[in-house]
Amino acid sequence: MSLITYTNAVLFESGEPKQVDLLIQDSLVKDITPNAALVKNVDPSNKLSYDLRGKIVYPGFINSHDHLLASYLPKIGGATKHNSWLAYDNLYKSSGVFAERQQIEIELLHYLGAYKNLLGAVTSVQDHIPHNIHKPFLDSLPVKLIHNYYLSHSLGNYSLGWGEGPALEYKLAAQANLPFITHLGEGLDEDSINSLKKLEKAEALGEFSVLIHCLPFGPREVEKIAKAGASVVWCPTSNLHIFGKTTNIKLFMDMGVNVCLGTDFSPSGSSNLLEELRFAKKLFFDLYEEEISDRTLLDWITVNPSKAFKIPNIGSLKAGCSADFVVFEEDEKSSEISISNKSSGQIDLIVIDGSPRLASIHHKKLFSDLGIDFEIIKLEGKDKIVAGSPLSLLKQVSASVGYKKELAFLPIF
Ligand SMILES: [Zn+2]
Repeated sequence: MSLITYTNAVLFESGEPKQVDLLIQDSLVKDITPNAALVKNVDPSNKLSYDLRGKIVYPGFINSHDHLLASYLPKIGGATKHNSWLAYDNLYKSSGVFAERQQIEIELLHYLGAYKNLLGAVTSVQDHIPHNIHKPFLDSLPVKLIHNYYLSHSLGNYSLGWGEGPALEYKLAAQANLPFITHLGEGLDEDSINSLKKLEKAEALGEFSVLIHCLPFGPREVEKIAKAGASVVWCPTSNLHIFGKTTNIKLFMDMGVNVCLGTDFSPSGSSNLLEELRFAKKLFFDLYEEEISDRTLLDWITVNPSKAFKIPNIGSLKAGCSADFVVFEEDEKSSEISISNKSSGQIDLIVIDGSPRLASIHHKKLFSDLGIDFEIIKLEGKDKIVAGSPLSLLKQVSASVGYKKELAFLPIF
């Protein structure tokens, strides 16, 4: 049993900052209250203690949409805009980048995707793919995958044959209290517009539905989605790259839909979730001439996905929850939630299931105290410690393709 105390942290509760200590037992939060470290009667010899020096501690960030298998670059397309995901997929699958990706083992691609997410301060990612693809790597990747779900690829004439069909998959999801995850309306063509009707016909629109994209929908469709209690995942960077347009996300918000944020996959999406947050904030203002608060953005990557994916013990920090949290540098004495102006280099500490995964160099003792294997990497010119071996990973990738491969989502030199 390991017991670790992080003292002197600032936690936001209902928007108000509060000074707390975090008491972590193994993979769970045991207590998170002011002076938790003092009142708990813990044998000091059995306790490790670290001072967070008044920095804000955020619940671990959740990336609600990615396909780790496709974590490779450079991005494809962008200059020409498409009407359907299929047109883009055909372009991608016929590209040299895709041919090069095919030379790399699927396990390495999953590690690339997992480190991409870790550098975006992500602690859990929804990897939308049939389960058997990522199952072998679930327990070893540096971030957690949300892996209990039912799925379809999409609802349309050219959907890929994932799962047992939306009707059965939704039914099983509802029985198991798990999400049913599908792309929906990923495009601007007839097929995309009609996809909601197909979902309704399959009786797969309800509170267990997690709908990725929903690009072409207007008030009538959004009202149906809202009434059903379904969740939507917004991937603005990817949408604009492929289609030159994105979901009318404010309409979804105004109608009370549970909104989550995702990076989507690397060929069309953002480098990581921190970049997606910055982009979403800017785009929202450009589209609606209205500021979206960082508190709302934080909901999109914490409590909202927790609700959508039916995982109550992630997305918030309280006793009994997974010990997943994120701390940024330069956050001392800050009295405001501030996540839309962050980048990888500002990450001070990421803890997943009680275990540190990425940190500033001054946390080195934490890794050695816990016996965690790490490498020292450079992020934006700063030394960081990262669990596992991403530098060796890049070497393996380079060896697979026969030249020194650099990936913009892993700028760790
Ligand atoms: Zn997708």
